[in-house]
Order: sequence, then structure tokens, then C-alpha cells
Amino acid sequence: MSGPASQRDGAVRPSVSFELFPPRTDAAAIALGRTIDRLAEVDPAFISVTYGAGGSTRDRSLTVLKYLLEHTDVEPMAHLTCVGSSYGEANALVRQFLDAGITSFLALRGDPPEGADPDAGIGDIETAAELVQLIHRVNEEREPFGQAQVPGAPDARRITSDRRTARVAVAAFPNGHPRSRTPQQDIDTLLAKEAAGSNLAITQLFWDAADYFDLVDRARAAGVTMPILPGIMPVTVPARLARLTELTGVEPPLELAMGFELEPSRHAQIELGVEFAARLVEQVLDGGAPGVHLYTFNHHEAVLAVLERVGLGIAQSTERNHQEP
Ligand code: FAD
Repeated sequence: MSGPASQRDGAVRPSVSFELFPPRTDAAAIALGRTIDRLAEVDPAFISVTYGAGGSTRDRSLTVLKYLLEHTDVEPMAHLTCVGSSYGEANALVRQFLDAGITSFLALRGDPPEGADPDAGIGDIETAAELVQLIHRVNEEREPFGQAQVPGAPDARRITSDRRTARVAVAAFPNGHPRSRTPQQDIDTLLAKEAAGSNLAITQLFWDAADYFDLVDRARAAGVTMPILPGIMPVTVPARLARLTELTGVEPPLELAMGFELEPSRHAQIELGVEFAARLVEQVLDGGAPGVHLYTFNHHEAVLAVLERVGLGIAQSTERNHQEP
């Protein structure tokens, strides 16, 4: 992929960011520490950490976010879901994360548990847009004015006019949300999330760059102005492809599905997945995407190989100014 990568030799580097999930075991936690250290080397704009619907991973998510805060220079972004919470619970949750020093969020509705009674209601906060508003409200209540360090007096603070504002991202769906009735409903929802105060959208993974561009065009035509970061996952394990199809409802590309069948060697499968993702990254960046958000599945090797292939790897990350997503 030497040709397209050279188009990114300009002064501004597109933003790169990653998604992790909280580890389930001590061994996985140790491996994740190493992965985070490697990912931090490409100087990502942020690393986001998923949150189990209903709060099932709250403490583990927070531990990973604090690790990012304390051991790296990377901005940690906390996914938060609101499904099933009361106002009081959601308020306390947002405050807990802000108190821990987290100021970037990915506000999500989340999914009700499988088999939940559809008539039972899904809590006080029913949409991601309402959670966006709540995050801003709690942030403002917690810090009603800006504070800055007084030079030479480490314990003193002065009041400033700029309060720390949170980065509040939301989800977007290039292939439509599985429960959406019409494509327009997805765009209306995105517009509502921006009106509620979100300043970044991150997409669900997709396989065809045309689907991402179509979403961006329709969102812009409807008046959405926030950046829309394409979410891309290098899939190098055949079983994961089947699982992703179940989760997203989007059929995988034949090139990958058949390629995995025809290439039994692990090396060839990894090469196939990395090459496919690298081509998708090239296409979205060449078409004007502000950056890429890579789903890591808690492994650094594949995402770093993709970035290396498109000229955004570790060696290239120190050389240029970075674009904000
Ligand atoms: P909303 O913006 O409120 O709605 C999304 C879309 O679904 C809209 O089009 C809306 O109209 C439609 N819709 C929603 N509910 C219904 C309904 N009942 N009937 C009909 N249409 C409906 N989930 C987690 O649990 N934890 C995570 O960490 C997590 N991270 C994610 C990260 C990204 C980048 C993405 C794309 C998704 C993530 N999810 C996560 C999944 C997300 O919680 C689900 O997709 C959820 O169903 C919708 O959340 P939302 O924030 O998009 O909801």
C-alpha cells in the first residue's frame, strides 16, 4: 500500500484512537497493561474503554481508565450506558467518573438485558441524547467555574472563565441501528445527540467505505456538524467474524469470509485481516475522514500493523502535528 500512504506525508496527521474493553482476569489485566503501553506509542488522541450495560463492568472499566490517566499521556474516554438506571444512579455514576479525573465520555443508551420485558420500561434515561445532557449538567454542577494553577503556588487555584468542558462522544451507525425503523431515524437520532451537546460521533464498525461516506453525507445534509470518526476493526480470527455479524446484523464481506475459509494458516489469516482493514482505513482517510477509531479487541498487534501499513505507525507518529478528531 505504498502509494496511498505517501499521501499522508503532510504536516497534519489524521487522529488515531482505540477502543479497549475491561479485562476479566488478572492475567488479562497484565497483558492489557502491555497493550496500552504499545498503543500509547502512536500518540493516540484518546483511548476509549467499554462499559457493560447495566453497570456490570463499572469498577473494572474505571480501573483501566485510571491506568491510562496515571501511566500514560493518552486521554481516557469512558463509555457510559444509561439503560436501566434511575436519574439518581446515572447522576452518581457520571459524578464518580468525573471525580476520578475522567472528562471524556462516549454516551450510549446501551441494550436492555436479553429477554427483558419490553413493557417494563428501560429506566429514567431512555436515550443517549439524554445521557449527553446529563453529563454536561453534572459537569457544570460539579465545576461551576474554571480553575487554573497559580504559578509558583502549587496549592493555590485562580478562577478563570474557561471551565473544563467534557468531550462527549456518541455512537453512529453506517449500516443503521438494528432496531431503527428507517435510515432517517438514525440521522434524526444523531442530530438530537448533537443538539443535546455531543461534540464527536464514533461509528459502529462497517466493511464498506461507501456506507461510512453515505452516513456522513446524510448527516451533513440534515445539519450534523460534529466530526464523525469511522470505527474500524481489523478482524484476523474467523470465529470473530461470525460473532460480529450476530452483534451488528451486518453481513461480513465475502472477501474476508471466503478468504478465511481458503487460508487455513494463521499467518495468512492475520495478513488478510490486516490488509483488509488497512485498505478501509486508506479509503476513509482519502475520502476526508478526520481520523480513525480502531477496535483493538485488547490486542495491539493487528491495529499497529494496520497503522504501520498506512503510514500512521509508531515511527511516523512523532514527526507531524496531530489533527483533533
Ligand atoms: P440511541 O442513540 O439512543 O439510539 C440509537 C438508534 O437506535 C437510533 O436510531 C434509535 O432511534 C434507535 N433505537 C434505539 N432504541 C430503539 C427501540 N427500542 N426501537 C427502535 N429503535 C430504537 N454498548 C454497551 O453496552 N457498552 C459499550 O461500551 C458500548 N460501546 C459502543 C461503542 C460504539 C462506538 C457503538 C457504535 C456502540 C456501542 N455500544 C455499547 C452499543 C450501544 O449501546 C447499542 O447500539 C444501543 O442499542 C444503542 O445505543 P445508542 O447510544 O446508539 O442509542
